[in-house]
Amino acid sequence: MAFDIEMIKKVYANLPAKVDAARKALGRPLTLAEKILFAHLHSDQQLSNFERGKSYVDFAPDRVAMQDATAQMALLQFMQAGRPKVAVPSSVHCDHLITARVEAKQDLQVATTESKEVFDFLSSVSNKYGIDFWKPGAGIIHQVVLENYAFPGGMMIGTDSHTVNAGGLGMVAIGVGGADACDVMAGLPWELKWPKLIGVKLTGKLNGWTAPKDVILKVAGILTVKGGTGAIVEYFGEGATSMSCTGKGTICNMGAEIGATTSTFAYDESMSRYLKATGREEVAAMADGIKNYLTADAEVYQSPEKYFDQLIEINLSELEPHLNGPFTPDLATPISKMKEVAVANGWPTKIEVGLIGSCTNSSYEDISRAVSLAKQVQDKGLTLKSEFTITPGSEQVRFTIERDGFLDTFNQIGAKVFANACGPCIGMWDRVGADKKEKNTIVHSFNRNFAKRADGNPNTYAFVGSPELVTAMAIAGDLTFNPMTDTLTNDKGEKVKLDAPNGEELPAKGFSVDDPGYQAPAADGSGVQVVVDPASKRLQLLEPFPAWEGTDLKGLKLLIKAKGKCTTDHISMAGPWLKFRGHLDNISNNMLIGAINYFNDKADSIKNELTGEYGPVPATQRAYKAAGIGSIVVGDENYGEGSSREHAAMEPRHLGVRAILVKSFARIHETNLKKQGMLALTFNDKNDYDKIQEDDTVDIDGLTSFAPGQPLTIVLHHKDGSVDKISVNHTYNQQQIEWFKAGGALNIIRKQVAA
Ligand code: SF4
Repeated sequence: MAFDIEMIKKVYANLPAKVDAARKALGRPLTLAEKILFAHLHSDQQLSNFERGKSYVDFAPDRVAMQDATAQMALLQFMQAGRPKVAVPSSVHCDHLITARVEAKQDLQVATTESKEVFDFLSSVSNKYGIDFWKPGAGIIHQVVLENYAFPGGMMIGTDSHTVNAGGLGMVAIGVGGADACDVMAGLPWELKWPKLIGVKLTGKLNGWTAPKDVILKVAGILTVKGGTGAIVEYFGEGATSMSCTGKGTICNMGAEIGATTSTFAYDESMSRYLKATGREEVAAMADGIKNYLTADAEVYQSPEKYFDQLIEINLSELEPHLNGPFTPDLATPISKMKEVAVANGWPTKIEVGLIGSCTNSSYEDISRAVSLAKQVQDKGLTLKSEFTITPGSEQVRFTIERDGFLDTFNQIGAKVFANACGPCIGMWDRVGADKKEKNTIVHSFNRNFAKRADGNPNTYAFVGSPELVTAMAIAGDLTFNPMTDTLTNDKGEKVKLDAPNGEELPAKGFSVDDPGYQAPAADGSGVQVVVDPASKRLQLLEPFPAWEGTDLKGLKLLIKAKGKCTTDHISMAGPWLKFRGHLDNISNNMLIGAINYFNDKADSIKNELTGEYGPVPATQRAYKAAGIGSIVVGDENYGEGSSREHAAMEPRHLGVRAILVKSFARIHETNLKKQGMLALTFNDKNDYDKIQEDDTVDIDGLTSFAPGQPLTIVLHHKDGSVDKISVNHTYNQQQIEWFKAGGALNIIRKQVAA
């Protein structure tokens, strides 16, 4: 049994009293999302009427989930905390590092050889610290979480943006960076801005060709890729309860595509059925016992406009199947309009490949509905006009659909089955001919369709649809085909029409699996050795950062004065650097290489004050470090916007930068800097940015009396002998000042654990 029943019992034992207390304190009915949030306030966090979109609140999530690409740095950091075990139940899933090339077995073999040291590392760390480990081939993180860990009313964070998928089982599940995961595993509170609330009322019932995917494709069309930012989307209404649990998962999954913090559904019969079908009868029984707490209060549903910041209503009975794209998931086109829109836009209408599966759409229901169409290919004398691939979301689904003959049916029409992994959804698709960069169209049931996302080809036009619609489109091979009205010509020259898909929500014979790919951690991991080869290029154990020396900082060099936008991509580039995410020293060779030097308008070209020569940023900083000289980085507005990637804070810390001084910070990056023991400072007068000169030597004064709300002073020693003193602000609270003094938040935890 992978899931932690004792933890769930504890959550359910406390949840009603916490919700009642919140309702009383606010003096009004609560939505479901509010109930879950209030039930998960950290013990140090006082209950209050938090302001939506404004208040920062500390939470205590129930679980942490990590995928293989992001888990590496999260776990390397966690190892520094010195804890014998993770503070909350956690799991690691090997799914991103597997390339789809030929077919499942062969591809898996190649991946387990290529990334052996990473998988072995993740396996041994998991074993040691009490973390559930899912081997390569076990499945995609979000499908495995839904099948094993998600539970109604729970709160989870995960190091992947589609962690939100678990909202299909009534959770508040949120995607975060590795540093946040590390904090929660180490027992620290987790901070989130109290979200706004968007209500989506679903009336009517899905029918015919329309699937849950079409709900979120429609919502994405309404809200756009930014419309959900800072909000939790709560779905309700008769249309919600009539839908399967896995269908709800699909809708929540793509909440990431509208920028939502997360999405969720109230506990209902479909969730109960799914819990029972996946071996969690006990969880279903417990959820039944507190079901009024796992849904919004009745008044919310009666007058939703009073309780949500925004309300959307969709009638499922009238909803049409959609294809969204190309290049953005919010460009929603109902299938009846696709012909005219595609022609008007000059999109290539020949479909080269149809791909179904992924974490978004690989439930038993999805595959059974797709297979009902695949059967018609043979029954009606048709042939598949496009290539067709299936990426099952988990071994449990794969094994069950094989047992039930679905894979045979797919194979008979010429489909290819890839490994239970991310593969083509994350660019890990070694597609033959993609390097020619030809203009072409694919349709898939994944979630994202940005340029290059699937196959690296910027000219691949990718459209997102339900698995059943994708299957129909692959049969027709034509983007302008509307399966609801159009006919196809069969091998006898007859015009035939595809029947609407049908399937089963859950397998009649139950789920089966031979080897789910699960590795339980050692009961006592103290004797487990985590081995990292010191010569490894991909992994490196972390050394604790040194504590503050107790003095003001004198004689710092200006490393770079960055001009304009400086996002986490400018600070720690992705792409080819992804493979070094577990090796701090190697990935530090990308530090700030995308930032534009104010003094010469060039990227990765700065003056080395020791030699007077211009060179790359990382090499220059390494020269300062070798000479025992600290440095400072100066930046513009919203420095560090973009992802929550902790590497952008760890790299400068590792290479000896002492402070980042900017006009303003993106908040998550500012917090990441503080956690790593860096000084994150802002100009009191933004015009002082102009006073920074290329050859300046910089002092930071006031650190010996560093206190919340007290500005510090920066002294700029210019080359001509003149001096400027400027006042700089910070947002450190007392706790964060302790992080700075200790050299980082993890150093404090380690000390606490040792004591
Ligand atoms: Fe992310 Fe795609 Fe993998 Fe899902 S299948 S976790 S969206 S990469």
